[in-house]
Parts: sequence; structure tokens; C-alpha cells
Amino acid sequence: MPHVVTQACCADASCVHACPVNCIHPTPDEPDFATAEMLYIDPDVCVDCGACVGACPVGAIVPDDRLAPGEQVFLDLNAVLSTPSRPYPPQAPVPPIRRLERGRGPAGEP
Ligand code: SF4
Ligand code: SF4
Repeated sequence: MPHVVTQACCADASCVHACPVNCIHPTPDEPDFATAEMLYIDPDVCVDCGACVGACPVGAIVPDDRLAPGEQVFLDLNAVLSTPSRPYPPQAPVPPIRRLERGRGPAGEP
């Protein structure tokens, strides 16, 4: 019984690093992230922990047994987008933290 990304998703990837099994894709380091209108959850890998739900700023992630009648299509959409399952590391790479300096832009930038 996986969780499902629904239409409200704005593809900001806030949920990606909350997932303990890296089953939300595309992640920001994957080539198709730049053109993705929404992210999706691989139902064969999701362990139903619910960690992604609180990380989503727009409430786009729902357990599949709580989908509204009009949202059932997203159960199929997440599954189709996950086929074939892609190879990926157990945790999505975390981008480096940028150091800010008072009165200036990020380190190394004017
Ligand atoms: S419910 Fe857990 S395992 Fe499934 S996508 Fe969300 S964070 Fe990942
Ligand atoms: S946190 Fe929510 S809105 Fe952002 S990418 Fe994940 S599902 Fe989509």
C-alpha cells in the first residue's frame, strides 16, 4: 500500500531527502528533473513510512487508501512513471551547503 504523489505537486523536491529508501523521482541530480511537471513514488520500493507527507509543502502526497475518487488516476500514473524501475543509490545525493557571508552573496560570488 504505497504513498502516491498527486496533482498538487509543484516538483520542488522537498520530499526527496525525507524518503529513507530514495523512491521519489526524479531527484534533482537526475537528468529528467529539470523537465518534470511532478515527481512520482515508485510503488514497488515505497515502504509506506509516511515521512514524505510532512515534508511536502502543498499536501500532494497521500497514502493510496486515502485517495479521493478523483485522485485514483494518480495511483496508476505513479506506477507507470516508475516503470521500468530505475537504478539509484539508497539515498539521494545531498547538495553541498552554500556559505553565506554578511552583506555579500554566496561565498565565491560578488
Ligand atoms: S512513504 Fe516513506 S518510503 Fe514511501 S515515498 Fe514516502 S518517505 Fe518514501
Ligand atoms: S514535496 Fe510535495 S510538491 Fe514538492 S516535489 Fe515532493 S510531492 Fe511534489
